[in-house]
Amino acid sequence: MVEPRPSANGASEWLEAFSSALASGEIERASSLFGDECFWRDLVAFTWNVKTLEGRDEIAAMLGAQLAAANPTTWHIDGEPTQSDGLTEAWITFETNLARGRGVLRLKDGRAWTLLTAIEELKGFEERKGRSRPLGVTHGVYRRDKTLLDAKRGDEDLGKEKQPYCVVVGGGQGGIALGARLKQLDVPTIILEKNARAGDSWRNRYRSLVLHDPVWYDHLPYIPFPENWPVFAPKDKIGDWLEMYAMLMELNYWVSSECVHAEYDEEKSEWSVDVVRYGARTTLRPKQLVFATGAYGPPNVISLPGVETFQGRHCHSSGYKTGEPYAGKSSIVVGSNSSAHDIAADLWDYDAKVTMLQRSPTTVARSETLMELGFEPLYSESALRAGITTDKADLIFAATPFRIMHRGQIPIYGEIRRRDAPFYARLAKSGFKSDFGEDESGLMMKALRTGSGYYIDVGASDLIARGDVAIRSGVEIRCVKERSVELTDGSELPADLIVMATGFQSMNRALAPIISEEVANKVGKCWGLGSGVRGDPGPWEGEPRNMWKPTQQPGLWFHGGNLALSRHYSLVLALQIKARMEGLPTPVYGLQPAHHRS
Ligand SMILES: Cc1cc2nc3c(=O)[nH]c(=O)nc-3n(C[C@H](O)[C@H](O)[C@H](O)COP(=O)(O)OP(=O)(O)OC[C@H]3O[C@@H](n4cnc5c(N)ncnc54)[C@H](O)[C@@H]3O)c2cc1C
Repeated sequence: MVEPRPSANGASEWLEAFSSALASGEIERASSLFGDECFWRDLVAFTWNVKTLEGRDEIAAMLGAQLAAANPTTWHIDGEPTQSDGLTEAWITFETNLARGRGVLRLKDGRAWTLLTAIEELKGFEERKGRSRPLGVTHGVYRRDKTLLDAKRGDEDLGKEKQPYCVVVGGGQGGIALGARLKQLDVPTIILEKNARAGDSWRNRYRSLVLHDPVWYDHLPYIPFPENWPVFAPKDKIGDWLEMYAMLMELNYWVSSECVHAEYDEEKSEWSVDVVRYGARTTLRPKQLVFATGAYGPPNVISLPGVETFQGRHCHSSGYKTGEPYAGKSSIVVGSNSSAHDIAADLWDYDAKVTMLQRSPTTVARSETLMELGFEPLYSESALRAGITTDKADLIFAATPFRIMHRGQIPIYGEIRRRDAPFYARLAKSGFKSDFGEDESGLMMKALRTGSGYYIDVGASDLIARGDVAIRSGVEIRCVKERSVELTDGSELPADLIVMATGFQSMNRALAPIISEEVANKVGKCWGLGSGVRGDPGPWEGEPRNMWKPTQQPGLWFHGGNLALSRHYSLVLALQIKARMEGLPTPVYGLQPAHHRS
């Protein structure tokens, strides 16, 4: 049965009909308020999962399973709905039995096209902020047996007399942002970082690395970058910010602490986590274990026949620091994505002779153009002036389901291609192969689908176009000799340095040496959507695999992403962990099976 259309464009009318159908348990009526093409993206509020339901049948099935427990009420429209291109868009708020949430509703012809419901806080476990912020002191006449500093020192028992509820492996921006959220939710947490200082994951990268995303997109939760922070911050500045942040947010951040082994006790529902801290072994026993060991997994090192005879240096991009020793020498950069471009430019900077080997086409967008057409509407000074705060921008972005995200990207890249036509022509003339993805949807979709295959041009493309960095496209290394490489087309290039900018394996591979091969395979690949394009095999998953949501291994989670994803989804994950700590019922709907091992 399909309900008659609400008469007005009316978001409030729709919401009222939806809310009353849900309140009376009329699932068919509720789902019939969605259009023929429709999506409900839920961030934990209903599904205790990160899940997109596609079509009325999937929506009805989810409601059948979750509605009674969620028992949603008090749906409200927040502010004035807007209208453009035949769409009515409204911000909404709602409550479930256990949580408060926000969302975005988009109506087409009076029916819901997309609905986002995102958990914001757990009732009774709200963060103490604003009016309910901690006083910091107890005023009055009494013996002060505990100052704030003492209370903070009390945290030092964590991992000794007292066990943390959660352990986060990896203290890069991901581990730090999640740790900050968990701290505000009073979840006893230890962050393990094998490096000597917070921020070293950025400091240790190559000299010339500068953020490719602009500042408005990069804020961490709670403490935004100041207004005079550069648009593109250099890596060490980010490293220092992370270190300062971890200290000010009073995180239990263990430096020089490597997680070397972890095992799950099914009976106790508890992990045993072995840590080598300043060389000494200790064991932690948390209930929840989060891997935040890097956006990608271990380096993807390709085998180079004959490399044992090579008289020069060879390394993966993650081991490359600077081109300084290579002035006047010959270097080969294998790969043609972000790191390859940055490293080629760095080597050129030090007067090395550089050749880049490109296996397949790269999606390139000039930073300037991308800032205007890609970032400006949501993350920029003008977005802020239009009232789109970072928080709002994150939700607007989250409100577009992955299935249809490419549709909005294709025209953007059409315009990028048109505006920068002379740039692409020069690049093509050099022999460099570029594309905009199999469906012309560009860089962000490539990143979401495959995590690789793109470069935001901050200058290296010009070096290629004018021949300062030589490009050899469509060839690979056949074998390495003492001072040269032989390519698959039979040609030979002199080489003193080979850098493999060949990317990283999936995050789940990081589990194999620490937990087991079996668990790494059981949870399966992280990231990717199953879109079916090269590098992102199906079946369609609807959401990035395994990120910020329950996995096939109880008590095991993954967190990470660029600064923006890490900021937004750290709340989504932290609330799932908090709910479990408080013993709230968290029935997970549609736990995704693992289709790929790596
Ligand atoms: C060239 C380039 C440009 C980039 N530009 C941007 C950009 O503009 N904006 C952006 O947001 N992102 C950018 N990124 C991506 C960025 O690097 C990642 O998004 C980010 O580092 C991921 O953060 P993370 O905390 O998940 O991982 P990481 O920063 O890699 O941190 C993981 C941490 O885990 C630690 N660790 C690993 N294993 C263990 C263990 N067993 N025990 C203890 N500790 C462990 C590591 O030491 C490391 O510190 C860029 C990356 C590259 C390579």
